[in-house]
Amino acid sequence: MAKIKTVKAREVLDSRANPTVEVDVLCADGSFGRAAVPSGASTGRYEAREIRDSARKKRYGGKGVLKAVNNVSRTLARAVKGLDATNQEKIDAALAGADGTRSKSRIGANAILGVSLAAARAAAESENKPLYRYLSRISGAKPQLPVPFMNIINGGAHADNNLDIQEFMLVPHGFKTFSESLRAGVEVFHTLKSLLKSKGLATSVGDEGGFAPSLRSNEQAMELMSEATEKAGYQTGAQVSLAMDAAASEFHRDGKYKVGRANLSSAVLGKMYEKWVRNWPVISIEDPMDENDWEGWREITSRIGGRVQIVGDDLFVTNRERLETGIKAGAANSILIKVNQIGTLSETFDAMRCAEAAGYTNMVSHRSGETEDSIIADIAVATGCGRIKTGAPCRGERTAKYNRLIRIEEELGKKAVFAGKSIVR
Ligand code: PGA
Ligand code: ZN
Repeated sequence: MAKIKTVKAREVLDSRANPTVEVDVLCADGSFGRAAVPSGASTGRYEAREIRDSARKKRYGGKGVLKAVNNVSRTLARAVKGLDATNQEKIDAALAGADGTRSKSRIGANAILGVSLAAARAAAESENKPLYRYLSRISGAKPQLPVPFMNIINGGAHADNNLDIQEFMLVPHGFKTFSESLRAGVEVFHTLKSLLKSKGLATSVGDEGGFAPSLRSNEQAMELMSEATEKAGYQTGAQVSLAMDAAASEFHRDGKYKVGRANLSSAVLGKMYEKWVRNWPVISIEDPMDENDWEGWREITSRIGGRVQIVGDDLFVTNRERLETGIKAGAANSILIKVNQIGTLSETFDAMRCAEAAGYTNMVSHRSGETEDSIIADIAVATGCGRIKTGAPCRGERTAKYNRLIRIEEELGKKAVFAGKSIVR
């Protein structure tokens, strides 16, 4: 048994130079686990709450996490001390119980998640298993390498340009292995850089490592990505498709959607997406509507959900209850999975199981504020969900996840299964 002996937390930095929580869990048998917590910018209203030192404005502009760190050392350490690290459900129940609120706002979802993830790492070490193997026992799924959804043009809240749509992603699905798929994505990324340069457009990158040029329109982003794909020697559609995250809650005001200079109703916005899907090989749209616009979600799902993956991120916030509401309403056909939106690993797996049972797909995701912690790569493989969204293949906190997947693929050797084409509806 891997009895938890000590739990220690510290303040480290994330990829946006903001403080975040890192936790170390040490067990009596000597096994050790460490995890760092990510943070979003376009956060959903219904996400579990991270705690920041907002009253201490002079320190990190009020973004410090010393209070959350203290909550780990004082409260959470006591709650899990002596528990078996390999009993994830019991640990997570103890963590949620110590907080006691629905939104985890008393102790902080950032404090809780750090302990939940670090305990899983310690447990895997205690069982002498790679993390994805250990986690696949909890998920009950067969390990599978996911298709990367690579955000190579950044807009919205992640960039200082004029694009309303937050993310334009490449989806290299038409390949036999993860590494071939990744290679294609990387080659298109480099080709896109040259293409942008040749047109006098900016090639500096946004928070998730994608380019953040100011473009004529949202359509131009898809045009450029298709052109770059062909130029790099790949077939659009058959090998490399497109996806987007509209993050529509960010441009929703007073019941309308502000796209460019226009104010659109959800019905007109829905028709715009439909046109895009007709004109470009778009296979997935995330958060096409605002997080409270259930009717808009239902409508867009019935309009194009048969052909396109419609992903709820801000809508579902990795929360089983919100997902169940969506399933009943016929909203979306897929859920984005972000561990820090809900705060524990067990609740994350619970939401994923619920989605699968309802025929919804799961897509494991990073946050725009990330660290070098690559646990989401292991989670994506362990749950066999077939999809991972972890940014452009650029910036160390993004490549950490891709590189981890490369290592897992190598370790699985002949047994490695890549989701590939199976993800296209
Ligand atoms: P966030 O963005 O991490 O800033 O929320 C990612 C997303 O919206 O999917
Ligand atoms: Zn999103």
